[in-house]
Amino acid sequence: MKPKDFPKEIKSFIIPKHHGKLIYRCLGCSREYGIDELLYTCPHCGQVLLIFDENFDRLKKIPGRIWRKIFDYRKMLTIPALKGIYLYHEFIGPVIPLESIIYLGEGHTPVIEANAFLQGEANLKFYFKNDGQNPSASFKDRGMASALSYINYLVQKGHTSDVLAICASTGDTSAAAALYASFLQPHVKSAVLLPHKKVTPQQLSQPLGSGAAVFEMPGVFDDCMKVVETLSENYNVALLNSKNAWRILGQESYSYEIAQAFEYDMENKVVVVPIGNAGNITAVISGFLKFYETGIIRSLPKILGVQSEHANPVYRYFLEPDAKKRKFIPVVVKPSVAQAAMIGNPVSMPRVIHLVDLYNSLSGRQNVFFVEVTEQSIMDWELLANRNGHIACTHGGESLAGLIVARKQKIVGQNDIAIVDSTAHSLKFSGFQEMYFENSFPPEFEISPNPDLINTPVYVHPDDLANVPAPGKPLHGEDFERFVQGISSKIAKILSLQKRQKT
Ligand SMILES: *Cc1c(COP(=O)(O)O)cnc(C)c1O
Ligand SMILES: [Zn+2]
Repeated sequence: MKPKDFPKEIKSFIIPKHHGKLIYRCLGCSREYGIDELLYTCPHCGQVLLIFDENFDRLKKIPGRIWRKIFDYRKMLTIPALKGIYLYHEFIGPVIPLESIIYLGEGHTPVIEANAFLQGEANLKFYFKNDGQNPSASFKDRGMASALSYINYLVQKGHTSDVLAICASTGDTSAAAALYASFLQPHVKSAVLLPHKKVTPQQLSQPLGSGAAVFEMPGVFDDCMKVVETLSENYNVALLNSKNAWRILGQESYSYEIAQAFEYDMENKVVVVPIGNAGNITAVISGFLKFYETGIIRSLPKILGVQSEHANPVYRYFLEPDAKKRKFIPVVVKPSVAQAAMIGNPVSMPRVIHLVDLYNSLSGRQNVFFVEVTEQSIMDWELLANRNGHIACTHGGESLAGLIVARKQKIVGQNDIAIVDSTAHSLKFSGFQEMYFENSFPPEFEISPNPDLINTPVYVHPDDLANVPAPGKPLHGEDFERFVQGISSKIAKILSLQKRQKT
């Protein structure tokens, strides 16, 4: 639909204006800084920052009803810059002109209702949101679209040039960073730092394929993070980890999409997210808060953060019911199939502490909850979901396992409706499925396969077949006939197929 054909009521809003006044604000000392320069931590006290819009109140002057209409109609636009996360431009990057926006197909990922069997198992209605259907196959593309659109804007304004974007990664951040940076080459180049052997082969292939400089180092993610922090403090590089508050802004789109997918009715909804570095849950909470403050949604959904027992610092922190007595203690992580969340000292912890408090108080009750799950349950639920029509990654399995725990603990009721985040595509983590099916998990994972979930290929090669075809060596005539018959009857036997009646 062309902008001129939109209803009168919303016509003037349909193309976003960039009237925001964004600033970095420190969560530690409340100091504020302009956004002309990329900042990651407060120059005064070293805390993480969040980006706020000083003109946010202008958005409250537009009634919620009009906003809902704007977003729903915007879906009919064909302008590439507004087809992804920037459909919610006013809430994500209201200083970025449309010409600077990079759109590679991110966002608006499918929300898929679980089948009757799975809903029966979970004992409530729930949906998966398939964030693995983003361009680099994880939700990280949302944040990278935002961070790189902003960098592109700085480049176009002449504020910066020859950017070297750098990140530490458990796999998906580097895949997304390398993809978006490669779109902006030669102005932007990327370098990624990975813990050696702690990312899957698929995840390693992604930044390599995008042409990034890829470094592997000993240790775990937390060690890589320290190195990129040191690099970003001492050298002229652009840090793309979620410490970069632009990432958080982009990832808020996840919440806006959920609101829109459920016609902005957040009553009885539970949004389930896995937690690693805690950037995602920060963004999810922040996104719902913004839609709530502007009257676009009338209630705040319940948020359920899930961690593995093998990497559970956020869960542990919130175990203490008395907020004043809570103390953050980083944990030493153990191997986890939710590998992208294997983080013991989450960078966004101060943001989470700040936002959970705000979210609960605006909800008028506790509305953010945390649970921990076993490695075994992560794999079992992932595989069960995927045997029922889903494409959940291990973190999707982790989220679902967390939902089950929350049901048992009555954090989530039978009449709630859950939206479970499958943060990446199952194919990125197929190695864990393979270990499960082959019962080859190293003992540290503490996973033993449930035989009902194991699946392995059957090689069909009847003993009495002398000749079989091979590449470049096809069979002909009777040999070929015998081969096809032999294989067919073997498969029919294994599957107990009934012979078709001859008429
Ligand atoms: C990064 C990532 C997470 C964890 O998100 P955080 O923002 O680090 O908490 C979970 N799942 C997948 C697939 C990821 O790539
Ligand atoms: Zn500060």
